[in-house]
Amino acid sequence: MAFSLPPEDQIIFSTKDSSGKIYIREQSGFYQRIRRVLSWLLMALFIGIPFIRYNGEQAFRINAGQQTIELFSVILFPQDLLITALLFTLAAFVLFYVTRLYGRVWCGYTCPQTVWTLMFVWIERRIEGNNNQSRVLDKAPFSLNKLAKKLAKHLSWLAVSVATALVFMSYFIPQSELYSTFFALQASWQVYAWVSFFAICTYFNAGLIREKVCLHMCPYARFQSAMFNTDTKLVTYDAMRGETRGPRKRHGDKPANLGDCVDCKLCVQVCPVGIDIRDGIQYECINCGLCIDACDQTMSQFGYAKGLINYTAGQSNRANLSGHLIYAATIVVTVIAMWGWGLARTSTELTVYRERNALYRVNSDGAIENTFTLNVINKTKTARQYQLQVEGIAHSQLISNATLSLQPGEQRQFVVSVNAPEKPAALFTPVKFILLDKQNAERVAELSQFYSGNTAAR
Ligand code: SF4
Ligand code: SF4
Repeated sequence: MAFSLPPEDQIIFSTKDSSGKIYIREQSGFYQRIRRVLSWLLMALFIGIPFIRYNGEQAFRINAGQQTIELFSVILFPQDLLITALLFTLAAFVLFYVTRLYGRVWCGYTCPQTVWTLMFVWIERRIEGNNNQSRVLDKAPFSLNKLAKKLAKHLSWLAVSVATALVFMSYFIPQSELYSTFFALQASWQVYAWVSFFAICTYFNAGLIREKVCLHMCPYARFQSAMFNTDTKLVTYDAMRGETRGPRKRHGDKPANLGDCVDCKLCVQVCPVGIDIRDGIQYECINCGLCIDACDQTMSQFGYAKGLINYTAGQSNRANLSGHLIYAATIVVTVIAMWGWGLARTSTELTVYRERNALYRVNSDGAIENTFTLNVINKTKTARQYQLQVEGIAHSQLISNATLSLQPGEQRQFVVSVNAPEKPAALFTPVKFILLDKQNAERVAELSQFYSGNTAAR
């Protein structure tokens, strides 16, 4: 019996049509299951994070107006930029390392472009049917049926796009406020503009241009191959085993002149970027493994061993081993740096600036006076009260309120003067400003210099 596809797929179309649209055949299998599970997980994370509450507030929020990131009880200010830089460094090196091991699996399994495209293609299939039915519908002349299906698809895509944009915006605007004002048409025009912008981006990227983002727009796709080496596992067709390709009867002896590839072209039809992996490794391949699932299915039907297409790597050598060590060392160093940052971080930031206009003054009692500006940031979500102390100048006095109060997440400047009744021996004397928060057992100190000027000693 000759090998045949299911009835609706009798005709084998080329994957791309002349307009460049790729009609992807639906495929099930091991790697497709992994993709689906990861997509659900990532989607659940994306939607779920803004719902997490902590002390009655959204646990994670980016406050663009205040230029802060709120994370549980912590508020990250621009002064905490180091941790975001370290986080990005860590994420980048983990990504580079995974790419070195398994090629473009980030693109094939977890990139938001892939996850949303999967969702949009799923919607398209539910409305228009499989890849061949969708192609036939596109080529069919105008009819009410075609109009209804196209309308249903695009409206569904738009609804998902708006929902995506709203969830994304809830990372910036408190969720409860965003949804209640948005649907009551009481949000500001900026909110509607941003939601429209993100919705249009989602609709175009995942619905209309799909894999073209990966092929022509994504910069990461361009330089990923620079991270590959001989032990990178890439999806590869075993030409030695597969060639010479050709159709044959499903049950019966394999013709002696043929290899294992039955030329069913399923591997091409399921490929989301529309390539034929039998032509060799190509930069467009996102290592998604769908062609492996498709080919394994065919191999099983013919009673051949699976793995004609598979993730394969070349030989490991000493240079490859040193590459592993360099990546591992970079990741470990970055994690240690993040840990160190966490230990050194205080909930209060204190910066002291000397007044530049008058370096010093001599008051009516003959004491020398210097003025400083204290920039204090309360990086927590609770109000704080600090006792200000000065150390380093003998018998010095603070000429200002020694109690400083700050609201949650507040940044304020306090002008304080320090009075030295006895002239310090040096022209510049180190002076330490200390903020004491007894309630939270926190002590923050910052050094500055006290200038004595050209005054006669008292
Ligand atoms: S060739 Fe295979 S692994 Fe590469 S993108 Fe196409 S289906 Fe995915
Ligand atoms: S799916 Fe496998 S058997 Fe079918 S054409 Fe591709 S490589 Fe050949």
